[in-house]
Amino acid sequence: MLKVAQLFVEKSRSGQVLSADEALQILTAKGAMLSAFMAGAQGLKEKYLGEGVELCSIINAKSGHCAENCSFCAQSAHHQARVDSYPLKSAAEMLAGAQAAEAQGSSCYGIVTSGTRVEPGAEFAELLEAIRAIREQTRVIPSASIGLLDAEAARALAEAGCGTYHHNLETARSFFPQICSTHDYEEDVTTVRVAKQAGMKVCCGGIFGLGESFQQRFELGLTLRELAVDSVPLNFLNPIDGTPLAGQQLLTPMDCLRIICLFRYLLPDKKITICGGRDINLREFQSAIFMAGASGMMVGNYLTSAGRDLAMDRQLLKDAEVTVSHC
Ligand code: SF4
Repeated sequence: MLKVAQLFVEKSRSGQVLSADEALQILTAKGAMLSAFMAGAQGLKEKYLGEGVELCSIINAKSGHCAENCSFCAQSAHHQARVDSYPLKSAAEMLAGAQAAEAQGSSCYGIVTSGTRVEPGAEFAELLEAIRAIREQTRVIPSASIGLLDAEAARALAEAGCGTYHHNLETARSFFPQICSTHDYEEDVTTVRVAKQAGMKVCCGGIFGLGESFQQRFELGLTLRELAVDSVPLNFLNPIDGTPLAGQQLLTPMDCLRIICLFRYLLPDKKITICGGRDINLREFQSAIFMAGASGMMVGNYLTSAGRDLAMDRQLLKDAEVTVSHC
């Protein structure tokens, strides 16, 4: 391995954080240098998380009409994107989704709802019922992604058996106001802390390709490190017609690999899962995510767009010679 990559591996293994200049070296690496950084990242992943990879799936349990204005999101009521809108699915439908996720090899199943938060009442009760049923009738870990959270709701979720709370920060604090102006970044950070305090694991990451700078990619990684999140979903923008980012250029496959690689050096022992935008941004390089340090990927449909055919993802895993493990 090239000496500089070895140096970064040693820093990461000894608990030191890369400097902004070092992060930039990864985010701009090409050719043999990128391969060396990727080899180092894959080594870190194997050291801390073993050789297997984990799969996760989600259900879009309540879609559309969101009062927030996240500029990448088709579900925002502020934008003109065409998206299916429907109220919360029943607990039985959410359970059926978990059973399907289990059958396809996922170890974590995320129930995702649109909107700022789920208010106490019938909807929240339905969610709790779904989580309890999933715990009782499947082996998948139920995860909830239902927006901003207060301590009481977090406690109720944890008591119902919700193993993981998912809440993305989306992007760097310094870039967030350009992506969302209807709530403050600190509210998202507080939600992460509240979920952790309630005893749930926290799955928290972001989306790239929004127009953020290299420095801001690094900044998000540092924030996630400070928050000591348990797993980090990385999404790559799929620009959707009708959203303010419809005209945004896709990331290149190498950009995606550089981002995965950087996050592995910054968060060496955390799960890093590649989620939305995988196929459209990485294209022929999807299986290389594991060589860049990813420890898992989402399979099945994304929130508002269809995912890849499961048979193709099974072939991808086989070709990459990675085995699927369970949390
Ligand atoms: S990302 Fe979530 S909070 Fe933002 S507009 Fe979409 S559904 Fe609403």
